[in-house]
Amino acid sequence: MGTTDSRLGQLRGSLPARNHNARTVAALAANPGCARRGVMDAAGIDKTALATRLGHPVQYGQSPFAIVRGHAFEAQVKADGGAQLRALLHEALGVPESAVAEGAYEELGGEIPEPETEPGAETEPGAEAEPGADPETEPTAAAREPKRLGREQRVTLTRRALHRVLDEARSDTCAILDHPLLPLDVAGTRAYLEPDAMACLVAGRLHVVEIKSFSVLDGGADPGKLASAARQAAVYVLALQDLAADLGFGRDVVSTDVVLVCARDFSNQPTAALLDIRKELAVTRRRLTRLARIDDLLADLPAGLTFDPVDAEDQGDAGPAAVRQAVGSVPAAYVPDCLSACELAYFCRSEARACEGGHGSGGLVGTLGTGIRGVLGGIDDIGRALDLADGACAPAHGEEEIARVLRRAAALRREVLEAAR
Ligand code: SF4
Repeated sequence: MGTTDSRLGQLRGSLPARNHNARTVAALAANPGCARRGVMDAAGIDKTALATRLGHPVQYGQSPFAIVRGHAFEAQVKADGGAQLRALLHEALGVPESAVAEGAYEELGGEIPEPETEPGAETEPGAEAEPGADPETEPTAAAREPKRLGREQRVTLTRRALHRVLDEARSDTCAILDHPLLPLDVAGTRAYLEPDAMACLVAGRLHVVEIKSFSVLDGGADPGKLASAARQAAVYVLALQDLAADLGFGRDVVSTDVVLVCARDFSNQPTAALLDIRKELAVTRRRLTRLARIDDLLADLPAGLTFDPVDAEDQGDAGPAAVRQAVGSVPAAYVPDCLSACELAYFCRSEARACEGGHGSGGLVGTLGTGIRGVLGGIDDIGRALDLADGACAPAHGEEEIARVLRRAAALRREVLEAAR
């Protein structure tokens, strides 16, 4: 039994690693009962690659064109020290222009500023010296390359910048922190959130700013995209509040009014609006506290389990059986919402539909949605629910009431069908 990190590394094997981001944390919090997703995310497994390997590739995602357009839109809003962004903050927050016109613009995601480098701090593997080079005299190729900050270094940089702007907060300056890296405890592991958002200090309060390239048409935006933006922003606000509290400031220094910047109509003109994310923040906080700790999840898994078995024989569209068996050994909790939130959804759906508990085919109740799963509380097999409705099997202790409701529903259905005939 190794350490948590070594066990997570063993699970991942040679599969590509991916960091958490606000979308993955929001999706994890949306299905807190899914141990499979909890383990995969803690191990940093690229679920898109794994889903392809399983023969159930992801069927959604942004087109390359939309990604390029999104980057160009973001660069436009941030250009010239955030000139356009400052005007948008004035528009959305209703503060005087003088309150946002001046202030520092700090980029926290780029190269190492030498004086800020911490002695002995973690560096990325790419920054190591070349073998054979004389470290006294020869600048290595890695040294000549712009150094990328390690994650802990970026967190340190973010902490310092945040402390400084909160300490120096004035009503007539607006400091902008771009690409902060925010740590967040997720089920006992440290996730690093790389916001595509920024933190802007306006009138003494920090506002998360999210730049999205989807359009606002006639003052309204796609409700699904708005809801998704609000869930992601809630994760950033939560991480920022935790960090502010850790630095000795009040949590309420971080506003729950998020500034959402979108494209106006079909143009490239940005427009900004406030998004009240109090509800999403409360839900995210509550669900994250309900997530099982990763050590508890790992304790229930078979020793030596890996999602990257070396002897996995590819079996065409069905994917390698050994990989399917490994993934299938971690309990899942599939619901239709997974289709829009998790890269493994097509695999988990097919598994849940094929599940057979000895009462005929039908699959798991979760495939019918969280509402029906809640109503049937505890009965997770569709075939068994049908048998209880027909009286073909006896209810177990505690299932008497739901069995009575199911029999009544079946009787009503028969009556309606006979009347229709
Ligand atoms: S798709 Fe599968 S792994 Fe992902 S959250 Fe749903 S049940 Fe869990």
